[in-house]
Amino acid sequence: MYSQVYRKILEPLWEEKIRKRHTLEYERKLNESQWLPEDDIRSIQWQELRKLLIHSEKECPYWRNAFEEAGLQARDIVSYDQFRSLPLTTKPIIREHYDDLIARSYRGKTWKKSTGGSTGAPLQFEYTPESDQWRQAVTRRGYAWAGAIGGIKQVYIWGVSLGKEPLIQKLKQNLHHLILRHRYFNSFSCNQESMRHWQRDIEKYDPKVIVGYTNPLYTFAKFINDRASAALIHPDSIITAAENLFDYQRVEIEKAFHAPVFHSYGSREFMLIAMECEKHEGLHISAENLFVEILREDGTPADPGEEGRVVVTDLHNYGMPFIRYDIGDLAVWSDKPCSCGRGLPMLKKISGRVLDIIRTPNGKSIPGEFFPHLLKDFSEILQFQIIQKKLDKLTVKLVTANGIGEESLDKIKKHISEAMGENCTIEYEFVDEIPLTKTGKHRVTMSMLSR
Ligand SMILES: [Zn+2]
Repeated sequence: MYSQVYRKILEPLWEEKIRKRHTLEYERKLNESQWLPEDDIRSIQWQELRKLLIHSEKECPYWRNAFEEAGLQARDIVSYDQFRSLPLTTKPIIREHYDDLIARSYRGKTWKKSTGGSTGAPLQFEYTPESDQWRQAVTRRGYAWAGAIGGIKQVYIWGVSLGKEPLIQKLKQNLHHLILRHRYFNSFSCNQESMRHWQRDIEKYDPKVIVGYTNPLYTFAKFINDRASAALIHPDSIITAAENLFDYQRVEIEKAFHAPVFHSYGSREFMLIAMECEKHEGLHISAENLFVEILREDGTPADPGEEGRVVVTDLHNYGMPFIRYDIGDLAVWSDKPCSCGRGLPMLKKISGRVLDIIRTPNGKSIPGEFFPHLLKDFSEILQFQIIQKKLDKLTVKLVTANGIGEESLDKIKKHISEAMGENCTIEYEFVDEIPLTKTGKHRVTMSMLSR
């Protein structure tokens, strides 16, 4: 009942009449376009992409140069191969050419935001209120696939900002959450004591959807599954976000809450990039808002099934156009369309972060799932992190409940040696906790090698 009132009266009144935003109108359009055949969605993307390129050439000195150097004029770009001759944008490029990347006519009219810096130094960037409305709209559409619609009870296990916000802003935010019926739990404090409280409070609140960072949700799920009495938490669905999701984590989370997991993939720079629908066959790209490429090391497009770097163009951020931005993640295109019938292109999986790849002395790389998959079977281990300081040296940091036996340690070492090759030294470091990144993410593997 409340949900209906919220969606039919409160929300349109606030979004359209008072704030004069287009979010709901975009969402209605997106709900239709998602069912178009993939080719039709591609042509919508191309129209938007061409508009963006022409705008960027005209308004941003950096892009004007880039077009010149590629020997192209924006209006002549009609094929993907031509588009591909534009350079990739990286974080260092954005820092170095910041001013030249801002569109002239949008100066002073953009919003500023920064990434958390989990891949090194934080990055500041700008975007327009208009592009924010697109971001909100694709996120609303994606979350709705999981049943997370306006006005229904939702719990967020989230990396809540630790910054000291002004009181008035905090009050505004709390009021907003109250009206939305969202309740927040701070994932930074994910320990036995806090999880007991989470369980009690969530049982009482009885949410329809739980949204959370993957790792704290997984830890919470394990906490519930390890206890003799089942938790009385019965949401209709779970949305995992902000961190990679491994298959065994999905199994554990679904077991704890008796509800399907919908994995989402997003970033500070773009918000929702892709999301699972109710069929769980992969992640649909927010294709009306983002043009996503998956590239091999040599810059050519990866085939379906083949892992490559995720490169994103934001079709609606005219203030600081992000064109061919290398986001630092690895992913794989799906090799078949989703049985739900949506025409949105689909990723089979997100395999992890480029920076977190562990390389072997003989020139191979270890897949992202390897370590979590290996270590999940040792119940003594509460948390772990693998750090590669040199090509032939790995440090395995472990947090244990009550220590861990020699036999287990030898077994782990043996498996890692087999994957890394004989020449690699593996050392253990026992620690009390593994620090999270500033935005509350847990890094499973960390490489200090330069690349
Ligand atoms: Zn689908």
